[in-house]
Order: sequence, then structure tokens, then C-alpha cells
Amino acid sequence: MTQAAPQLLDGKRCSEALRARIAASASDVQARRGRPPHLAAVLVGNDGASRTYVESKVKACQDVGFRSTLIRLPDSITEAELLQRVQELNQDPGLDGFIVQLPLPAHIDADRVTLAIAPEKDVDGFHPENIGRMVLGQPGFLPATPSGIVELLRHYGIPTLGRHCVVIGRSHIVGTPMGILMSRNTDPGNCTVTIAHSRTKDLASITRQADILIVAIGKPEFVTADMVKPGAVVVDVGIHRIDDAARKSGFRLVGDVKFEEVAPKCSWIAPVPGGVGPMTITSLLLNTLKAC
Ligand code: NAP
Repeated sequence: MTQAAPQLLDGKRCSEALRARIAASASDVQARRGRPPHLAAVLVGNDGASRTYVESKVKACQDVGFRSTLIRLPDSITEAELLQRVQELNQDPGLDGFIVQLPLPAHIDADRVTLAIAPEKDVDGFHPENIGRMVLGQPGFLPATPSGIVELLRHYGIPTLGRHCVVIGRSHIVGTPMGILMSRNTDPGNCTVTIAHSRTKDLASITRQADILIVAIGKPEFVTADMVKPGAVVVDVGIHRIDDAARKSGFRLVGDVKFEEVAPKCSWIAPVPGGVGPMTITSLLLNTLKAC
């Protein structure tokens, strides 16, 4: 039996629609308060990938009419000095929210820094208070990547109620909150969720049961066609640069899913690039708007 062509969960297009609404709200805020929403991003050190992520967040702010401030700090900064900067940002009344880009240099305890961020300015949604609020279904900031995926499923009207969602990965920023959001009594939500990780036995037999498969494993093209049920919805969170001599740039971007062979089996699939990535930044903008 041949499958119909899969439809794309197009995060770029979905983001454009959401960002147009965010821009309209930003100009309302400007008119009412005399200043637009304001996000700051703290970048410690010179890691190339982190710099790219932060710069794209700052640009996205400008595109929707937010003010954004990029705070660059040397990787020689001590933990105490960084905590001091965090306190200053917490107390800055001209700032609605801020993020500290992870990972931080090894001599700085990232958990301690996250804990120091005022929960009402924690637009990344990583503070334990915001994680607790998410678990309890109380208002707060949701972590950007999982909530972006929920918005993507909502935008495309993907039914989730009663379906089996398998999440591969249990990181604090993606896999674990993803499982919580998909199992909540909300729409999208109400899934029966399985979280798989590196100690899971016979992973393929579990992923083949997924109506919705969300992959956040951090290994290029790990998920192959034999691991996917025909007709499944597949969301690929991973993002990797791999060498490709055929490209002018010398590389191409791939996800955690082997797109060419998996896509023909799916009803819907989020591509890399252009799937989850743009939605993560859009979620950060939504959180900043909420913060102000
Ligand atoms: P992470 O912290 O490295 O977590 C990876 C998870 O995968 C861990 O829970 C790990 O299990 C599990 N895992 C590793 N090998 C496995 C295996 N063989 N079988 C089953 N599970 C396995 O990664 P992350 O921060 O969640 O990110 C995942 C990917 O998403 C990365 O490629 C990252 O770059 C990407 N990402 C993209 C965005 C975006 O906006 N597009 C945002 C965030 C992350 P253990 O817990 O047992 O080690």
C-alpha cells in the first residue's frame, strides 16, 4: 500500500503567522506604556553555536518591534560576578525578561544561575518555580522548545487526545517538559506519553507504537524508517551541521531523524531546518510579551 505524501509541520510559516500577531501586540504595548517589550540575552564566552542562537533571538526581537539587549561577558567571568549581573537584571524595571544562554563555562554552576533568575523574568521557563507551575498546570512561563512544538501541533490542528506520544530524550529543557505538556489535560495534550532515554530497552519496538513521535536525542539521523509507524506524526527537535562537499557552504543541516526515508511513512513531519527551530524563538517572544 502506498502512503499519501507527508505534510510538513512548517515552523517557519507558523512562526510568521504568530510573529505578525506578536508585532501587533508589541505596538499596543508601546502605545500604552511608552516603550516596547524588552528582552535581554546574556552570552558568556565565545561559543560559535551559542552566539548564532543568541543573535537570531536578538534579531527576532527587532523584527517584531521589541527592544533587545545583548550582554556579552568574557568566559573568564566568575560565578559570583555572573550572579551579580543576574541580580541587576532582576531589578531593572526597564527589562521585561532575560535569558542566560546555555551552556555556561564549566567553572559556573548553571543550576545556581538559573535559580538566581527572578521567576517573573525567566522567559526561558527553566526556573524550578516555572517548571513546578507547568507540572501543576498553573500560569507561568513554559520552556520555549516544548511549548513551540505544542503551538506547531495546534496551528496544524493535529489531533492529540487519547493518542500515544513517544518522546525520545529526557533533558530538562526538551524531553521531560515535552512529556509533561503532551500528557496535560489540555488541547493539544491528553496524550498517553512514553519517555524513552539511553537506558530504554528495544527502543524501536516502542517508537513503532507512537502515533506522535517527538525526537530530542541529539544524534544526527538516528531515527530510521523501521522505527516509525506508518501514518505517524514525527517532530524532529535535533539540529546538527554535517559535512557535505556537494554544498557551497561545505555543510548541511540535519535533524535527529533520517528525513528522506522517514518522511514517506509519516502523515506529518517537522523538517530540519524550518520545523522546531523557528518555533523555539517564537515561544521566547510570546513569553517576553507575557512578561510585560
Ligand atoms: P541532551 O540533553 O543531550 O539529551 C538527549 C537525550 O537523549 C537524553 O535524555 C539521552 O538519554 C537520550 N539519548 C541519548 N542516546 C540515546 C539512545 N541511544 N537511545 C535513547 N535515548 C538516548 O539533548 P537536548 O538538549 O534535549 O537536545 C536534543 C537535540 O535537540 C539536540 O540535537 C539539540 O541541539 C536539539 N535542540 C534543538 C532546539 C531547537 O530549537 N531546534 C532546542 C533545544 C535542543 P539519557 O538521559 O539517558 O542520557
